[in-house]
Amino acid sequence: MRYIGVQSMGSFVVQHDVALARLSTLELGGSARYFAEITDEVALFEALTWAQVQGVAVALIAGGSNVIVPDEGFDGLVMHMATRGERVDLSDHLQDKVRVTVAAGEVWDDFVARCVARGWAGIECLSGIPGSVGATPIQNVGAYGQEVSQRITELRVWSPSEQIIKQIDASACEFAYRDSALKRGVLAGCIVLSVTFELTRDGAPTVRYAELAQALAARGLSEPTLADVRALVISLRQSKSMVIREDDPNRRSVGSFFTNPIVSPEKAAQVSMRALSRGLATTERPMPQWLAAQEQVKLSAAWLIERAGCARGERVGSMGLSSKHTLAIVHHGGGSTAELLAFASTVVSRVSDAWGIELDREPVLLRAL
Ligand SMILES: Cc1cc2nc3c(=O)[nH]c(=O)nc-3n(C[C@H](O)[C@H](O)[C@H](O)COP(=O)(O)OP(=O)(O)OC[C@H]3O[C@@H](n4cnc5c(N)ncnc54)[C@H](O)[C@@H]3O)c2cc1C
Repeated sequence: MRYIGVQSMGSFVVQHDVALARLSTLELGGSARYFAEITDEVALFEALTWAQVQGVAVALIAGGSNVIVPDEGFDGLVMHMATRGERVDLSDHLQDKVRVTVAAGEVWDDFVARCVARGWAGIECLSGIPGSVGATPIQNVGAYGQEVSQRITELRVWSPSEQIIKQIDASACEFAYRDSALKRGVLAGCIVLSVTFELTRDGAPTVRYAELAQALAARGLSEPTLADVRALVISLRQSKSMVIREDDPNRRSVGSFFTNPIVSPEKAAQVSMRALSRGLATTERPMPQWLAAQEQVKLSAAWLIERAGCARGERVGSMGLSSKHTLAIVHHGGGSTAELLAFASTVVSRVSDAWGIELDREPVLLRAL
């Protein structure tokens, strides 16, 4: 076992009335009554004990890129996950694999960049995604043909209901499309302390996503390196405002606001027929759909939104759809979470009226563990 980096032992400090908008990529929401920066596990347990003694609720935020902070803020202790550290296992029995255990508060894209630089394959297509390592298993982060569930072997979590730290095998996480048992199943409320990934040493990049394959081909990259794929994924993401940049007018968002609907084959056929009958799809350019797990069908939320009459860049007050694609809702500044949720509701209603499909929200409301 070789160790890279150490976790410093910090101390736990409670702050009062801390604005949470600065921690949310939407830049929305009220304040935390109490707030603590969690830089190591000692601070985490001190904070949990403090909250228990005070009798206040506890919530957790990390990169704030998939969370919606209510306007009223949080009447309890908000812990900001900022733990650091990484442990690398290059044992012989792993052969061409490497196991990396990463502290929950590490920045996800910094970790991806380090893996790509070391020639470790398996998460290169997940380049450019904001947020922390510890949040990636919550909704099984995925993009461009890879999902973290394909590389996570185990997690170390704090279970508040059992009051213990435990190792959880990836199979217990019930990973699915943008979902896991940590998000709304038996493990909901657990605090992820670290995540272990198994990556392939000197591995080839994954090129299974059509848009990525076409972009590589267009650049004449027939045998791309991990670095080529990382660079291209970031550039594709930038063209859709899916990388946060200060100078991007679409930057205040949580990325995709809605998940792609997973429906029965019968429902998909019904929606497809409706699209054909309205002239919104043809046999040559059919409605996009893909096979999903358990013989279900995945539809494109963006396609359905656009063809429900919602346009890119459409705006109501300080909220709008991204000018690059209709899946992201953008806060243009000076708005409120109430306005965001009202705007999202109108999109959901328009899709429901047009297609009989109820869109699900991807980001979660900040709430007590
Ligand atoms: C521009 C942009 C592009 C994006 N692109 C993608 C994409 O391509 N694919 C994708 O899947 N997602 C994408 N996202 C969503 C988001 O980046 C991911 O979901 C990310 O993993 C969230 O991490 P975070 O640290 O910001 O979590 P936060 O927003 O801070 O938290 C999200 C939820 O996870 C919980 N949580 C956070 N850390 C922990 C922990 N250690 N233990 C337990 N619970 C925890 C929080 O309590 C909250 O409920 C995008 C977001 C943006 C803004």
